[in-house]
This record gives sequence, C-alpha cells and structure tokens, in this order.
Amino acid sequence: KLPGSYLFSTVGKKVKAYSEAHPDKKVIRLGIGDVTQPLVPAIIKAMHEAVDEMGNADTFHGYAPDLGYEFLRSAMAKNDYQDRGCDIKADEIFISDGAKCDSGNIQEIFAKDNKIAVCDPVYPVYFDTNVMAGRRIKFISANEGNGFLPMPTEDDKADLIYICSPNNPTGAVFEHEKLKAWVDYANKNGAVLIFDAAYEAFIGDNNLPHSIFEIEGSRDCAIEICSLSKTAGFTGVRCGYTIIPKTLKRKGMCLNDMWVRNRTTKTNGVSYIVQRGAAAVFSEEGQRQVKENLAVYRGNAKTLMKAFDNCGIWYCGGENAPYIWFKCPNNMTSWECFDLLLNEKQIIGTPGVGFGKCGEGYFRLSSFGDTEETKE
Ligand code: PLP
Repeated sequence: KLPGSYLFSTVGKKVKAYSEAHPDKKVIRLGIGDVTQPLVPAIIKAMHEAVDEMGNADTFHGYAPDLGYEFLRSAMAKNDYQDRGCDIKADEIFISDGAKCDSGNIQEIFAKDNKIAVCDPVYPVYFDTNVMAGRRIKFISANEGNGFLPMPTEDDKADLIYICSPNNPTGAVFEHEKLKAWVDYANKNGAVLIFDAAYEAFIGDNNLPHSIFEIEGSRDCAIEICSLSKTAGFTGVRCGYTIIPKTLKRKGMCLNDMWVRNRTTKTNGVSYIVQRGAAAVFSEEGQRQVKENLAVYRGNAKTLMKAFDNCGIWYCGGENAPYIWFKCPNNMTSWECFDLLLNEKQIIGTPGVGFGKCGEGYFRLSSFGDTEETKE
C-alpha cells in the first residue's frame, strides 16, 4: 500500500542527465532541505571539551540517560518553553537523534485502529510511517484558498492529527487563533495533535507561535516534536526533542509514561558529546551565533521573495520559514516547471506535487542554498 518514494530520486536523475549533457553549464541548487552554514564556534567548543572528557577516566561518560541528560532537558525547558510562557518541565522533554525518528516512531503508542489525518501537501514521514503500521489515513486539503493553513471541519474527525508549522513544504505558519481552533477541536473530539515545530527558529520578531504549548488547552491534547537540525545546523550531528505533557491522557493512560516505556525499550539515547553541543545552542553565546547563521538563510529568503514580488507570482512562506512555495505560472504542472527551470535557467527546485496531490501546480524553493547563487 505504500507508494514508492520517487521525488528526490527523480530530481537527482534529471539533474544528472542534464549535467552530463551540458557539462559547461553551472546549476543553481535551491531544492535542498539541508543546511549549508557550518556549526558555530560555541557548539564546536562544547563538543571538543566533551570529547576531551571522554578521554579521561574521571570524566568519562558511558551510556547516557535514556531520555536525555538533565543539563540539556532543563536548558530546553527554560529557553524554548518557560521563557515563552509555556508550562513545560524538563521531565516532559525527551531527547532524541532527530525529529524524523520521533515523528515516525510516535505512532507506536497509538492503537492500530486509530484514524489518522495529515495535511496535503505533507512532510511524507507522517503518512508513510502510518501506512507502514497498517493504518488508514485521511488527507486534509491545504490550498491557496485557505492560505495552505487548513482549519478543522467535522469531516476531518480523526484520532491523531499531524500539523507542521512553519510548514514544510509550503512555508505557511499558523497564527495563534488558528492553532487555538485546532486545540479546541482536538479537546472536543478527544483527538491528539502531533505538532512538528522543526522550523520554529525561522519565525521572526512577531507574535506567531513557536510552540503548540503557547496555546491554552494544548497540555491536554498535544505532543510537540522539534529539532536542532535547522535551528543550529545539526542535520549531520543529530539531536531532536519531543515534548509530551504529563497531563496528556487517553482512556486513563498517560502518554508521557507510554513514551518513556517505548524509548527506554528501544533506544540508549544520544551521545554525551552531541548533548553537550546541543546544550551550547541554548547558551547566550550560542544563541547569538546560531541567530547569525539563521540571518544568512533569512537574507536568501528575502532575495527570493523580492524576485517573486517583482514577477507578480503568487507565493507563500519565506517570511517566517526557509521555504518559498510558489504557484507555477501559465498553468504549468509542477514537473513542467521543474523541467523549464532546469533546462532554461539551470535552477533546481522541488516540484510541489511530490508532497501530495494538492501540491500540483506549485513549486518549492529553499533558502538554505548559497547566497551568491540565490542572488544569481
Ligand atoms: N520535520 C520536518 C517538517 C522536516 O522538514 C524535517 C527535515 O527536513 C524533519 C522533521 C527532520 O528533522 P531531523 O533532521 O531532526 O530528523
């Protein structure tokens, strides 16, 4: 029942074929979802020191605590949650090797016959992992009409609903009121929201929520999954975190306890060195430095947005997200647009239809590319 994953392999094959036929042409890569800025000095210093500790009998660390070191869990609880007014404690945070694993594994604590809803277009992990588990999945349509921010309707009744904001692939961001509607809906219907906040660091200086736990009532219906991949360039280092409030219960069962049981069975956690590097992200110096890196991507997004404004092409994202999602001009399909950009302008992007049916006719560009190439 699981369709093949052809999106990035087809993109790769087309680019390879083009480059082989035109070895003299330079291609500009704006399809990437990976970061390009190196780790900042505060993180490197913390990881070097941790490596040295590992080489000394007095400071050596063996297995890390299954759910994460206290120094990291409390730094996250304070900086990412309590400082934003969220009532989240360190023992409600689980450290992991990334948001992909957590967003794929979290469905294991839910019943096989639970009904799942995902938005279309979608980060494919939510859909694929539930198909692998044998569940049926309903799509909630995101489109230009709803600004790619679908709201709950009675038709969308599901036990488990995945929401990603800032969104991959559309870059759309839910405002407070709209998230409140999802929280109210989940509480009314006994549903659980899985909120993916992997791109929260791209939200600018405004009132948009970084976390579902900024919304009243969310402690009774939401799980949040977050990551340092895009926040601090950890795509190759690996560190994510999942938050399950102890107040989140279904049929008398505490979901935090269930995830503790799941994680302590299946993982021995994340290395001490990585967790020390992660904790440095939340230091004053670390925050200042990672923000400088984020500013590079923000600048790239601005460059792209200005170009689309000048062309009068509809798009969303870019403002508070690293992705720009534009409408292919002249009624082109996503793949027609891909071929045109590659063959005529040597620009690589990602066809929207690869993220779901509702993505047809749209196209994703990323601000993670090289700044000079983005300007070009
Ligand atoms: N969630 C979303 C929405 C993503 O786009 C990505 C990566 O692109 C991830 C999670 C994965 O993050 P990580 O690198 O922490 O596994």
